[in-house]
Amino acid sequence: MSHRSVAIDGPAGAGKSTLARKLAQKLGFLYVDTGAIYRTVALAVLRAGADPADEAQVVPLLDGLEIKMAYDTDGVQRMYLAGEDVSQAIREHRISGAASKASAIPAVRAFLLDFQRRQAREHDVVMDGRDIGTVVLPDAEVKIFLTAAPEARARRRLLELEQRGQEADFETILQDIRNRDWQDEHRALSPLKRAADAALLDTTDLNLEQSCERLLSLVKEKIAL
Ligand code: C5P
Repeated sequence: MSHRSVAIDGPAGAGKSTLARKLAQKLGFLYVDTGAIYRTVALAVLRAGADPADEAQVVPLLDGLEIKMAYDTDGVQRMYLAGEDVSQAIREHRISGAASKASAIPAVRAFLLDFQRRQAREHDVVMDGRDIGTVVLPDAEVKIFLTAAPEARARRRLLELEQRGQEADFETILQDIRNRDWQDEHRALSPLKRAADAALLDTTDLNLEQSCERLLSLVKEKIAL
């Protein structure tokens, strides 16, 4: 039996992971956070003392990478690197920029493409990332491009970091978001862009509840709930 899939793409901080997780719960699908997979690669690169922007340093590390994904009973995705649970470690701020740099390397994307597609072959998925609707799952039943103004995304990211007890300041985060947007939109391979058949959802002026409602109504147009 073929599996069903919902692809949600968009820039950092647009609310993808929160909304995708809620949607997956509602549909009874598996939620796959592909950013977490790129983050795990970035963590491995940093731990090896390599520069995530340097293809010549990153590529030789890929062969030895032991990345696994597992799910808690409540559906929370956990990432493992060489058997160690790194789900917390990959959320550190320094990992975001490193993931964005490493993800521009074609060999990294090729390495992870299979990993991601396998999840969609084996499960019904709501998958979020940057290139899910365009490259990873071009035949997804539903495609959503979720976005928001950079300032709104920076405010949300700041709140998220503060809630985790991490120090951060708004201007730095906004600048990081702009840099990451630029890197993600301008890389040669699989840049962040809206698929021609993706519905656009701009959450700048919506709170979480409103965003969730809008997302559900977009999904309902394509999948019976
Ligand atoms: O979504 P998240 O912020 O966790 O992603 C971290 C980085 O991983 C992104 O900035 C992006 O460069 C990269 N990424 C990607 N393709 C995906 C998911 C994430 O290039 N499908």
